Amino acid sequence: MYRSVTCGQLRMTDVNSSAVLAGWVQRIRKMGGMTFVDLRDRYGITQLVFNNDVDAALCDAANKLGREYVIQVTGTVRERYNKNRNIPTGDIEIEVNSLNILSTSDTPPFTIEDDSDGGDDLRMQYRYLDLRRDCVRKNLELRHKLAFEVRRYLDSQNFLEIETPILIKSTPEGARDFVVPSRMNPGEFYALPQSPQTFKQLLMVSGFDRYFQIAKCFRDEDLRADRQPEFTQIDCEMSFVEQEDVLAIFEGMVKHVFKEIKGVEFEGEFPRMTWHDAMKYYGSDKPDIRFGMRFVEMKELTGGKNFAVFDSAEYVGGIVAQGCAAYSRKQIDELTEFVKRPQIGAKGLVYVKCEENGAYKSSVDKFYSQDDLACWAKECGANPGDLILILAGKKTATQKALCELRLEMGNRLGLRDKNTFAPLWVVDFPLLEWDEETQRYYAMHHPFTAPKPEDIPLLDTDPGAVRANAYDMVFNGVELGGGSIRIHDSGLQDKMFEVLGFTHEQAQYQFGFLMDAFKYGAPPHGGLAFGLDRFVSLLAGLDSIRDCIAFPKNNSGRDTMSGAPSILDDSQLKELQIKLDLQHPEAK
Ligand code: ASP
Repeated sequence: MYRSVTCGQLRMTDVNSSAVLAGWVQRIRKMGGMTFVDLRDRYGITQLVFNNDVDAALCDAANKLGREYVIQVTGTVRERYNKNRNIPTGDIEIEVNSLNILSTSDTPPFTIEDDSDGGDDLRMQYRYLDLRRDCVRKNLELRHKLAFEVRRYLDSQNFLEIETPILIKSTPEGARDFVVPSRMNPGEFYALPQSPQTFKQLLMVSGFDRYFQIAKCFRDEDLRADRQPEFTQIDCEMSFVEQEDVLAIFEGMVKHVFKEIKGVEFEGEFPRMTWHDAMKYYGSDKPDIRFGMRFVEMKELTGGKNFAVFDSAEYVGGIVAQGCAAYSRKQIDELTEFVKRPQIGAKGLVYVKCEENGAYKSSVDKFYSQDDLACWAKECGANPGDLILILAGKKTATQKALCELRLEMGNRLGLRDKNTFAPLWVVDFPLLEWDEETQRYYAMHHPFTAPKPEDIPLLDTDPGAVRANAYDMVFNGVELGGGSIRIHDSGLQDKMFEVLGFTHEQAQYQFGFLMDAFKYGAPPHGGLAFGLDRFVSLLAGLDSIRDCIAFPKNNSGRDTMSGAPSILDDSQLKELQIKLDLQHPEAK
């Protein structure tokens, strides 16, 4: 028996009992003739004491331990003289009578503490040590709990978890595929699934009616804080459903998870917003509605006063930052710099300070009278003490910039509390998105998304105006999940491919298997997928999804611990009949 209890288990009620513990040496402190060792495992920390006066040899052995040694001790539980109120085992300690070193350790490259001295890269290189840290381990525990509660809920709703293949033919989710060469079929490649989309639809054709899978998805995209080349979805699909059925089931799932994991209960139904309103009032299809500060369109209001910037702009929009009229020159300059950053792209920032005394101070005083500004304030709902911030330019780009400015102001004003959760369904997405560069439509979601039945005639006349039966669940400005009701009619699917610019042959080559399946009795169906990693980050209040993934990749898609990706040796390439066009510096 390696241990009778864990390092997080013993309490005052155990005093005078004997115990066997095993774990890692977190810390060693020598105080006079006593040596104290903090022993750590997944469950907590227990203090061990060695007394030189009682057993000098044993104490000597304890003094020779190093950080992260794995040891086993036998001893008696004693009440602690100096109690540690910060840990659950802080009332007791173990008076050790035997010590067994199970494994020694090199000095770890960083301290295994919440407040580690290790930088990001170092911790990633030694991720297995990083995972020993309490704060990182907790995220993985939460991840487990979330997956468990999701399974529990979906099982109770008759969903079946069914695995789908990883080596597949490409699925269209709008990103680049990762590909895998097939040795048995030289010159041919599998794609790794961007999502199990086509398979889950086929499962509906097979009659499985309620499917889910906690599925790995792979997308070869440039990485950001909330993206990884491989990530996990809670992927779901249902048959004989309309949008309302899907929203009800998954709102239920999210509520269940929040209640079980965070003890948070949401009152009533989640609010809903059309995509159109989301863009109009927040400049984003994933608005953070923890706070207001909705956009006010000011083009008409500001026109005709010879201020060329506004007069020539396609769009003029403002937000009201409450209580910020006292912003200093420096603060306004900072905001101006912020919106001018290349990623944000605004040309400048106009402000109006609604002073407490009823006067208005603005960067465009020259063009607008006090009455004009009073009129703006009224229209924007700004009160004395508030600050109006205005951007102007091309509509979409300006709305995007105003969205960033709004979020920045939300941060500055402390309106984006991580412990406040503001859910929102965004509905009625456009079916298609026009791409200027390639001069064609793309599916905004994916090509299997159904148009709203009443908009189908527009597919011929005004495809850009067709709305989809598509929905996203948004929390605190993050898209947690999204999906759609699917096309289950092969005629309509053909039409969709046509609008997307696929020839019949291309569509047949890429999706023939799905189109064929639809000829054999496809039920009406729809579904959605949640980003599991994002869900965990939201619940844990993390800034990056990396922190809740056991072995994540860095921003260049590398696993610096194992060294992936890496080159293949010549024999492997030969077997795959692949000749490289480039000479890798590490290749022999
Ligand atoms: N496959 C979609 C995605 O990955 C989700 C869905 O439509 O169910 O975004």
